[in-house]
Amino acid sequence: MKFEPLLTSLTLSRSAIQRRNRETFTDLQWSQVLASPNIKAIELRDFRVELNGAELKFHNLQNFDANSLKIDLGTDLDGNSYAAVLVEKPVDDSWRDLRSLGAKLNDRDVALMATAVALANWHARATFCPVCGGATTVTNAGWSRTCAKCKQVQHPRSDPAVIALIVDKDDRALIGRRAEWAESSFSTFAGFVEAGESAEMALIRELKEESGISVQLSDISYRGSQVWPFPASLMLGYQVKIQSQESVPDGIEIVEVRWYTRDEMKFDCEEGRLQLPPSISIARQLIEEWFGSALPGEWLRP
Ligand SMILES: [Zn+2]
Repeated sequence: MKFEPLLTSLTLSRSAIQRRNRETFTDLQWSQVLASPNIKAIELRDFRVELNGAELKFHNLQNFDANSLKIDLGTDLDGNSYAAVLVEKPVDDSWRDLRSLGAKLNDRDVALMATAVALANWHARATFCPVCGGATTVTNAGWSRTCAKCKQVQHPRSDPAVIALIVDKDDRALIGRRAEWAESSFSTFAGFVEAGESAEMALIRELKEESGISVQLSDISYRGSQVWPFPASLMLGYQVKIQSQESVPDGIEIVEVRWYTRDEMKFDCEEGRLQLPPSISIARQLIEEWFGSALPGEWLRP
């Protein structure tokens, strides 16, 4: 059996950061890391950061309130420690979000920011215990929250979602437009994995629901995954090769589908008749993998 190499172009799947072992890293070790003069901290306000040139802006931990929420982000390849500090203060235009920065940051900084944003989103939703409703406090270097009443421990979660580019036997790609998007904005088909469902079952179900196309396990190739922390998705990317079938959009979620040859897609992108998702997205990378190179233009927010 021949395996295709996985996608290496996934913007948010880059990393030059080593995570600590959450099973063995102790509170004492974390307090020693926090007291070290060499730890570099990024400040996160409303899921945004400031830049220093092309890199993230780093601060001394001493600059922050002692009670601020601090999260261990691991070490770089030279052993330097990094942390995120969540701060509730107003932001201006100098504060940038992950969608706008993701493709521009280096491998170290994109890993730091994606992790910090994912954890900030989780902390914002985990302040109360799901078992007894009691207030929770931050534990395990910012990687868990523990209920003060019943001691239940919550961990950050990722919600798996599947996303696929459909390609037919003539090597045309199928993309669709969601009801709420602009008339020229198209993308691959995607949806969340439901409880009790495998990723492949979810993909087969979603493609049938959204595009009307029936897919079998033998049609599906896994292409790679990428975190999408808005707020907590893990995108599992696929290419699906089918024999030609008529596509019938569901008319509710997906209102229009288009089959494209490479020449047609390039032409429509150049003419502005087709806007594809931004390069930070796994959808764009699945489309450009099929196309063979970068395509022009992208939507800002559909
Ligand atoms: Zn509780």
